[in-house]
Amino acid sequence: MKAYDYNYLKLKRKEFSPRDINTAISLAEWIAKFHYILLPEEKVRFEFVRIKNDLVSYHRPKRNHRPVVYQIKVPGSFDFVMKESTTTPLFEIKGRNEIIAPPWEEAHFPSPEEMIKAIAAHEVRHRLQDLGIKMFSPEMKDKERDPLLRMVIAFVAYIKEVENDEKNGGYEKEWINDPKEFDALVIAYFILNKSRHCSTIFELVNLIKREPSLST
Ligand SMILES: [Zn+2]
Repeated sequence: MKAYDYNYLKLKRKEFSPRDINTAISLAEWIAKFHYILLPEEKVRFEFVRIKNDLVSYHRPKRNHRPVVYQIKVPGSFDFVMKESTTTPLFEIKGRNEIIAPPWEEAHFPSPEEMIKAIAAHEVRHRLQDLGIKMFSPEMKDKERDPLLRMVIAFVAYIKEVENDEKNGGYEKEWINDPKEFDALVIAYFILNKSRHCSTIFELVNLIKREPSLST
């Protein structure tokens, strides 16, 4: 029996909906692919859970030789991905130096599959952060050399400002001000915008381990 079928049957017994199960498994599969290409020696474990705040979260191993744990919240995962993929406009990449942010009515939106890849990349980036990768921060929005990354950093910095202006979102506020979340969000948006321009998984993996390249 394939891993997919095994997980599907296991989750079906817990009475999750088929579309939530498919979304959760697809997310786990992308995380596993990215993780094993980047860190082939390191084991991962997945926990499919019922109650959690986020769709997916990463837990660093408590001791060496323990697996990295990714927890995925199954209920609501399908709706979450659909909502995110229909409300996150993409930039338009015309050439290496010509990237535009079209008005909402003219914007293209990612497919659910592209959104799942971006969410998976975000979580695996958290693992790389613990291993010491250099992170992106809001101050880099004018200094980063890559034009798309520059726009993505500015976009995430803008979201951070908007979130901080809203008085009532206590949880969101703390989340967006965490430097690790900022960096992982930059990677997620970067992947989201690059996904359809990448023809192999290795190209995507190279983007997950991207570090800032700043002009002096
Ligand atoms: Zn995160």
